[in-house]
Amino acid sequence: MKIRMYNMGFGDCFCLRDRRKNLLVDFGTSNNRIGGLRRSEVFDAVMSDLSTISHKNLLLTHFHLDHLSGLLYMMKKRKNSFEFVRIYLPDVFSRPEMSRTLALMLLADLAKDSCLPSHQVSLFALAGVLGKYPQNLELLSRGTVFEGRYQALWPDTGVIAEETEKFLKRIEDCDRDVWEKIVGIAEKLRRIIWEMINDAEKCMRKTEKISFREVEKEFRILRNTPEFIQFLSGMETQEMELRQFKNKVSIVFQNAEDGEWNLLFTGDVQPAHMRMIADNYDGKIPLFEHYWCIKVPHHGTESHYFNFSPYMPENLLISNGVYHANSKKRARSYRTSMQYTGLFQIGDGDTYMCCSSSECCDGCQDGCSCREQHIIAPNFYLDI
Ligand SMILES: [Zn+2]
Ligand SMILES: [Zn+2]
Ligand SMILES: [Zn+2]
Repeated sequence: MKIRMYNMGFGDCFCLRDRRKNLLVDFGTSNNRIGGLRRSEVFDAVMSDLSTISHKNLLLTHFHLDHLSGLLYMMKKRKNSFEFVRIYLPDVFSRPEMSRTLALMLLADLAKDSCLPSHQVSLFALAGVLGKYPQNLELLSRGTVFEGRYQALWPDTGVIAEETEKFLKRIEDCDRDVWEKIVGIAEKLRRIIWEMINDAEKCMRKTEKISFREVEKEFRILRNTPEFIQFLSGMETQEMELRQFKNKVSIVFQNAEDGEWNLLFTGDVQPAHMRMIADNYDGKIPLFEHYWCIKVPHHGTESHYFNFSPYMPENLLISNGVYHANSKKRARSYRTSMQYTGLFQIGDGDTYMCCSSSECCDGCQDGCSCREQHIIAPNFYLDI
């Protein structure tokens, strides 16, 4: 078992490899430049490396662009060459009521200061490329075993539904009419993805096939109406929470069986959810006592810090990079948490911190790997 960690700056891309199968986990960045190169050059380097790896599936933990911009680039560039045998997505598509969660995610992309390049709405961008270059999709939620060897610990669709309703109660006084329209568009988007998952016979749909182009147009028109703009500015106070709706559905997974090569991948899971998972809140899936490798959530930032030291990980993966925010204060809060550097002291101090960028890590003095291990050109990866 080997993990290839690519340097994506503030973004994620990992390839879990063994002789039989390979699984790519996320492929994206929020940076325009990484290690002195343009992002497209870095994407090209990663893609050319990936092309040497046969039989691989892809898992997208969630729909923030720092986890999928590389995939969008790759699919546009490669057109019809099917790179992946299968793509796993978090389950926010299997039931009609999920369109309310999706609607909040659409709003999150449009909220001010969401730091998206060229005002891209990531769900539309993803649905667009998936529609153009059809892929074999599968949805994951708590309990699903996939690849014959991993098990999803998150998202829990019941918890997400509850949190969606709780959030919606607080925006009840907003324009109902606009909200219903957004939900209507989200529902169409949900069905487009859902239909890709179920083939035509299985889903026995009686309705007409929904055209992606038309939904996109409908959304574009809605976005520019004064009612919508007002609606969005009314939501600005909840902006950060809104943005978190994407992290809420983040896939977390570990091995299905306890063993020597236990790994825990956490996407950008929120600390409260990580706590629930660690406490085995529903009694269904306990964490293991020990992990060979843990990928920390949300690029190691303080806001998503979680204390993994009880699990004595041999390797702690931190895919960090400089985050370009509008304010200095906010940019600073995206640096790597100082609390992770304390993990060097676990047990006999054997935890190896695989940190991709020293520019935003204060652990260098304490011997963090980023001090000498710059994961930059020409390979952009580190094998663990
Ligand atoms: Zn995220
Ligand atoms: Zn992220
Ligand atoms: Zn570091």
